[in-house]
Amino acid sequence: MSTIRIYKAKNEPVLKYLKGSKERKMVVKSYNEMFNSKIDIPLFIGSEKILTNDRKLILPPHDYKNSIGTYSQANENHVKHAIKNLLENKKSWSETPWEKRCDIFLKAADLISNKYRSKITAGTMIGQSKNIFQAEIDAACEFIDFLRFNVAYLTEIYNEQPVNGEGKSNNLEYRSLEGFVYAITPFNFTAIGGNLCASAALMGNVVLWKPSDNQIYTAKITMDIFREAGLPDGIINLITGDPKMISDIALSHPEFSGLHFTGSTSVFRDLWKKIGNNINLYRDYPRIVGETGGKDFIFCHPTADIDTTSTAIIRGAFEYQGQKCSAASRIYIPNSISDNLINKVIDETKTIKMGSPIDFNNFMTAVIHAGAFERISKYIDYAKSSNECEILHGGNYDDSVGYFVEPTIILTRNHQFKTMKEEIFGPVVTLYVYDDKNWEEMLDIVDNTSEYALTGAFISQDEESIKIALNKLRYSAGNFYVNDKPSGAVVGQQPFGGCRASGTDDKAGSKLNLLRWVSPRLVSRTHNPPTSYPYDYMD
Ligand code: NAD
Repeated sequence: MSTIRIYKAKNEPVLKYLKGSKERKMVVKSYNEMFNSKIDIPLFIGSEKILTNDRKLILPPHDYKNSIGTYSQANENHVKHAIKNLLENKKSWSETPWEKRCDIFLKAADLISNKYRSKITAGTMIGQSKNIFQAEIDAACEFIDFLRFNVAYLTEIYNEQPVNGEGKSNNLEYRSLEGFVYAITPFNFTAIGGNLCASAALMGNVVLWKPSDNQIYTAKITMDIFREAGLPDGIINLITGDPKMISDIALSHPEFSGLHFTGSTSVFRDLWKKIGNNINLYRDYPRIVGETGGKDFIFCHPTADIDTTSTAIIRGAFEYQGQKCSAASRIYIPNSISDNLINKVIDETKTIKMGSPIDFNNFMTAVIHAGAFERISKYIDYAKSSNECEILHGGNYDDSVGYFVEPTIILTRNHQFKTMKEEIFGPVVTLYVYDDKNWEEMLDIVDNTSEYALTGAFISQDEESIKIALNKLRYSAGNFYVNDKPSGAVVGQQPFGGCRASGTDDKAGSKLNLLRWVSPRLVSRTHNPPTSYPYDYMD
């Protein structure tokens, strides 16, 4: 293969949506139009858009009595048909020149950046209850960045070639996987939904995409964008319905070649078990990539700056209602600064407004669905009834209109308290105050408290302490932030993923991830082949 052109990607600038700005007016217009109309979302199989009789309602979490449409539920035949259709298109797609595949996804990025920006942003505000800023950094910027940086990484990967030996030319052909890839995606990022299928498809794979029921509204917009960008039918087929039924069929297919999953740890473990049990059925050893839960920490060293720390806690814990896998949810505070810091966090949290995402004064909106509301309120009730902690702020919840949970701050005396260990995935943060002189021993406790190891932050103005923390917390987080919140990874700058129970650490938005979706073939060509068997030493 000849040396290919390297594509350089740049991060999409984040729009500010200031009062009176054009972008703000456009999003408000899209929001109002979309919120006041109804849509019926089909299954996407090849060129067919199938509306089934079995439908579920799409309900905005902040106003769940106002249905904005329905989405179709697949039956077993639909799933089998979707896989069969993908496999029929496999050969032509994997043989499509890589430049063409790149052009399609670059065009998709441009469509999101321009024509579809207000629609996909407003859709994320409506369907997933993100405020305008959270919707912009996800559905517009992160999604665009994934698409453009993946193209850049593809060109770097394709350029990585072995050396030629004497009289031999050697070439690595980055083939797609032989069967199909199954992408299962979570509710909390429009960008993750799009990226998990687009990254595998870019590398020449066909993909069965099962988005979250609670992201289906923007998954449909994503499919429209891919199609308009020129993605042929039947390269990414979108199926919604009973996740267990869909997965049982996909994971027992002999041509299942890879799982690209983001979601909770328990679901990923179940899927891994199923794949293990079915291993004799497959032609390939399937690639298994999973980014899962987190119990992300902020550790404040005694030299931590109070304003930096309180901002990291509030943004880290309460942005998008704490529903980021990277959300800060356990905070370690030295006794010497605890009064000042905690008072500041409480005072600032009191100013947070919560309500509909279309009211731009709101920093927080609703949590995603009734199940999340119930799970989070149970944790709050547990804290209310415990004698090991007190609730310093919040603790109320109300689902009369939408699934609203107040930003809640718990102070515990037990660093092993339930809410210091388990993923809550809501706007609940737990503080623990430690004795300054024990700060180094506390790092061991941070390391051992939870089964997760996704993100963490260390706040300090002392260089030596940063070195010690990096060393002691080497395996405590896949993304480690110094003097900032543990969330908000930017594609191309902070490749994202964790280890231990948090996932396979294949770093979404990086070359490492794309490498999982190829099966390289080495082609070695000998120009003057030997014509007799004896070697020189035998003379
Ligand atoms: P979830 O596990 O409930 O759902 C994720 C996906 O799995 C959805 O598409 C869902 O329909 C599907 N699913 C559910 N049950 C299944 C089953 N039995 N078989 C097959 N598929 C099934 O997660 P969620 O609520 O959508 O998202 C929140 C979780 O995702 C949190 O745990 C969060 O930490 C994690 N997350 C992790 C990352 C990361 O990069 N590490 C990013 C985003 C979210």
